[in-house]
Amino acid sequence: MAQIGEKYPYQINNYGGNQIEDIGLIEVSNGWKVAHIIHLNPLILSGLSHGIYSQSEVSTCYSRDQHVAPFIGCACGFYSFYEKSRASDLLTYARGLVLVKVENYGKIIFHTYGQRSQEQDIISLSLPNKCSKIFCSNNTTNLSQFKNKYKQRCDKHASNTSLNLSALRANTGVDIDILAL
Ligand SMILES: [Zn+2]
Ligand SMILES: [Zn+2]
Repeated sequence: MAQIGEKYPYQINNYGGNQIEDIGLIEVSNGWKVAHIIHLNPLILSGLSHGIYSQSEVSTCYSRDQHVAPFIGCACGFYSFYEKSRASDLLTYARGLVLVKVENYGKIIFHTYGQRSQEQDIISLSLPNKCSKIFCSNNTTNLSQFKNKYKQRCDKHASNTSLNLSALRANTGVDIDILAL
């Protein structure tokens, strides 16, 4: 787990040009996002915008000037929404996406609807409540591996390597539940 350290929250509404305001120490900054699960133990997620990350990760920027991520004027850092609903709205973007609750640490840049952070811990995963198999409307009971991703499935469409919720919690070390949509 990351240390709770000094935070540098900046209130800005776009990538650059605004005055930076240091509002001092904050306890923690929660966020919400969606991702694909690509590995369970250790837990590895693949995000929509940021490549892959583990349960506890520090962001690295690969730009030439080697600044600390996140950086104003760059797109680096871990992205998350403030509101759960903004993230859950993205679950229909692709089959097999899960809702992810994160805690953000380190340097954080606050934007209008979400934030970019230097450090991110995954707190919990929520699986959509319906099976990801096309035309199936059965309830989710497990996570099953297909090629390079894990997807929520019903009993009928589980793969032979499927894991139920308690097995998933034991394997990933994070809280896992089923989201009602
Ligand atoms: Zn950068
Ligand atoms: Zn199904």
